[in-house]
Amino acid sequence: MARVYNWQLGREMSYWYPESRPQRQFAAVFDTNKCIACQTCTLACKTTWTSGKGQEYMLWNNVESKPYGSYPLAYDVKLLDMLEGQRWSGSKYSGQTIFESAPAGERVLGWRPEEQDYSYPNVGEDDCAGQVDHGALVTIPHMNWFFYLARICNHCTYPACLASCPRGSIYKRQEDGIVLVDQSRCRGYQECVRGCPYKKVYFNPMTGTSEKCIACYPKMEQGIQPQCFVNCIGKIRMAGYLSKPDQARPDNPIDYLVHVKKLALPLFPQFGLEPNVYYIPPVHAPLSFNEQLFGPGAGAAMKMYRTAATDMDLAGLLCLFGSSEMVMSKWRRQGEMVSGLDDKGTELVKVPLREPVHVRPGVDPKLQIIRTNCP
Ligand code: SF4
Ligand code: SF4
Repeated sequence: MARVYNWQLGREMSYWYPESRPQRQFAAVFDTNKCIACQTCTLACKTTWTSGKGQEYMLWNNVESKPYGSYPLAYDVKLLDMLEGQRWSGSKYSGQTIFESAPAGERVLGWRPEEQDYSYPNVGEDDCAGQVDHGALVTIPHMNWFFYLARICNHCTYPACLASCPRGSIYKRQEDGIVLVDQSRCRGYQECVRGCPYKKVYFNPMTGTSEKCIACYPKMEQGIQPQCFVNCIGKIRMAGYLSKPDQARPDNPIDYLVHVKKLALPLFPQFGLEPNVYYIPPVHAPLSFNEQLFGPGAGAAMKMYRTAATDMDLAGLLCLFGSSEMVMSKWRRQGEMVSGLDDKGTELVKVPLREPVHVRPGVDPKLQIIRTNCP
């Protein structure tokens, strides 16, 4: 095992291969507060990449209702149980990662789901987590909070799928950090399925190989965001590239949300993979739950999001989500207008910080019409 630095843990850790960061790292921010679980993202991915034989059960993108939803079943709580003693000392993780707690002779602490664990794409859908005490028009026990968690492969800096593969079939692209399975090398041992704590590698029984989210790399190569991003109804997503913390650029929207404001947080950072999909935590869920999912920065992020409307820059950047299908490498706010720009600084889109309000008279004497009260 090599020693590598994981900034999400605030310390070095053990990993199967030496540290080798790509020239730039594909990354994304998801705002959980805006997701409506319409599953448009899931279907956008499914119809694009996983409509073939042997891929029926695959959801490279899935959306699950927390606290109970999970795909495959209990992928998260099972590993949290196995990974004993998760502790943070401030922003430094003092527990063990899945690499550090690997049993003797194995590279990763993992487990492989059974076939039936994939039977229900969102078991626990819309079930919430506590009783509504009064004011509710129900007398049966009812639950009082839940939220939707959209998930894709995290294109981790230290992928457990890659570390687990005895054939060296999984690789991380130098040009963008996207993690792919070389189909010609894979022999279907499924060690990657076992190793990925997020269960984002799927075995295809028809081809005998493993398959996974490819971050729509043919689109990203052309500067266009992936299918699940551009089709997102709730406009909760933004794809781009993340710098190392010491090289963060405030004019890079992903850097700004992750490194500058620390509003967007990794999913289960304690696993140790340095995942590159970042979440704005749900502000109505309990702090302890958010801390388990997103680490010790959850409380500050929830507080910041609640007051985001008073921060012109932050509010402006949040307005850019879902405003263009292109990758916005840069952004800027000028007064009440916010722009997304490409690598070369060309403006891709410009949106207002506040939607303008137009009040039209009920009776229009010029057109001689009476308007109904429709927007
Ligand atoms: Fe590999 Fe899983 Fe990380 Fe994706 S989320 S790169 S499949 S370990
Ligand atoms: Fe949520 Fe967007 Fe997916 Fe709809 S399309 S479920 S809003 S992430």
